[in-house]
Amino acid sequence: MADHRDLARDMDLFHFEQHSPGMIFWHPQGMRLFRSVEDFMRQVYQAHGFEEVRSPVALSRSLWERSRHWEKFHQGMFVVGGLASDSGQESEIPAMSPDYALKPMSCPAHIAIYQSRKRSYRESPMRLMEFGMCHRNELSGTLSGCMRLRQFVQDDAHIFCRESDVQREIDNFLGMVRQVYAAFGYDQFSLQISLRPEQRLGSDSLWDHAEAILIQAVEALGHSYNLAPNEGAFYGPKLEISLHDQLGRSWQCGTIQVDFNLPQLFEAAFVNELSKLERPVMLHQAVLGSLERWIGILLEHHGGNLPIWLAPTQVAIASISEKSSDWAEAIFSRLRSLGVRAELHNRDRTISKKIRELSKRKVPLIAIVGEQEALKQTLNLRRLGAVNQQEMSLAQLEQLVGQSPTGEISG
Ligand SMILES: [Zn+2]
Repeated sequence: MADHRDLARDMDLFHFEQHSPGMIFWHPQGMRLFRSVEDFMRQVYQAHGFEEVRSPVALSRSLWERSRHWEKFHQGMFVVGGLASDSGQESEIPAMSPDYALKPMSCPAHIAIYQSRKRSYRESPMRLMEFGMCHRNELSGTLSGCMRLRQFVQDDAHIFCRESDVQREIDNFLGMVRQVYAAFGYDQFSLQISLRPEQRLGSDSLWDHAEAILIQAVEALGHSYNLAPNEGAFYGPKLEISLHDQLGRSWQCGTIQVDFNLPQLFEAAFVNELSKLERPVMLHQAVLGSLERWIGILLEHHGGNLPIWLAPTQVAIASISEKSSDWAEAIFSRLRSLGVRAELHNRDRTISKKIRELSKRKVPLIAIVGEQEALKQTLNLRRLGAVNQQEMSLAQLEQLVGQSPTGEISG
């Protein structure tokens, strides 16, 4: 089995350095892959009624104290301090609690957006999502390529809704999971419900209620699941999705969590039909989890042979000689104008050398053009790993690279 770090080196996607342990240096090819994942997820989230937001990476210690993350999670946070007192200027700012922490998740920031003005029942459910840049101070011994990082981006979503909406939102979430996992080439996943942990917020009766709502919703939707005692989040029980990869491993990626605690701690509220203040339920959700980890799992699952819609370079056009270089360039320009991620290899090396190098980089399609093809305005397509070539028109190639991920996007 190829390790994702070796694949990343062969494909020139990213690397690590000692001076930033647990953080990734993305190369141009890797950034193309990252963006493809992100763009696809952006479409899926939009189609399922989410609005994208962006919130600060550093938030004050007082906010983390209010959310209780400070108390429960303090060891795992990067604290940056002294913003107010370092300026050297006389300041009216009182010298209290100058500490900030880099966010390990976006929950309190999304609560801040929810509370930035008065909310009405007409806005419920409010679904916010962010490609949130998160930092967690994992022990250096536990860092492992993309699989465990200190800095990562997660598809961090929060739904503010009513209790009566929870089942529909879980259904919406599972619909996204099915669609997204299929598009990335996974056909199997399983569900687990994680119950109250020892270290937790809120009363037992609140937990009884939250767990019952989650279990009822999953059962009403007809899904089977395993129960995992003690593995919930400190604010609420979790439904967790594990996907099963080609190598027989399972990875916990997606999650949706029912939370009555944070809305209470932050006194979140909306005005209901009777003009009374009502407390929303908060659902925390991620379909992929960490995008970096998702990409690491994906690389190993496919052995680097990514589906065409995801590949950093989808098609490379390689000319055999000078005599076919104009036609190669015309193909390249046409594909580029259509938004296809294409590369042109017109010069120097022999065609066999070009094919070797492109295959090592796992480019899925190579369009080879020689004198004959230039005359006929065709190309010979060589798929990654195949020995044979297939002659086709440019229009046929366009159709092949224009294919979208499997599973249509619907709300
Ligand atoms: Zn959250």
